[in-house]
Amino acid sequence: MTSGNNSLPVEVQKLIIAFSTLPGIGPKTAQRLSYFVLSQNKEETLKLSEALIEVKENLSFCKTCCFITSDKNSESCSYCYEKDSAQICVVENVIDAITIEMSGIHKGSFHVLHGAISPINGIGPEKLKIEELMKRINRGETKEIILATNPTLEGEATGMYLNKIISENYNNIKLTKLARGLASGTDLEYSDFNTLSNAFQNRTSIDETN
Ligand SMILES: [Zn+2]
Repeated sequence: MTSGNNSLPVEVQKLIIAFSTLPGIGPKTAQRLSYFVLSQNKEETLKLSEALIEVKENLSFCKTCCFITSDKNSESCSYCYEKDSAQICVVENVIDAITIEMSGIHKGSFHVLHGAISPINGIGPEKLKIEELMKRINRGETKEIILATNPTLEGEATGMYLNKIISENYNNIKLTKLARGLASGTDLEYSDFNTLSNAFQNRTSIDETN
């Protein structure tokens, strides 16, 4: 933060710092958003703060598939129960799961990793929901794991890591990855339904020697 911010009221400083923690928001945007909130009428701002509080108080992540759930106490969400657990599609984030779900191409279940391996940003495998995935595999119902991480450097590294640990420990699980329909470097959430459906239908087995 620039020293110029020190002359601002402490409330505004706090807001700028809070906005800065959001992904894709740099200091300049954080300042702009803070001034926008200042100029907003109270009702609009309260709606935003209420929505933020409700999300945190009412929702959490499922202990099994790590997707959003409103049932904080149960081990599995309604999603886990409804979907075929023999086929697990592994995605980086909740939005990717929703994108694939909306395309209607995948009838199995999902597993949300909540990120991708990125050594530069200090994100190792231990920071992702991989242990939860292994627990699911250990139940013995899984026949196929579809690696649907993003075709980015981090997504590829994550897919390779998962492929290695799963293929080394379970030889009866088919590991597949999405076909190269998705342009390299594109996030799943931005791909259109046709591209995604093709990538899914033409998914390939991952050779263990990779
Ligand atoms: Zn679940």
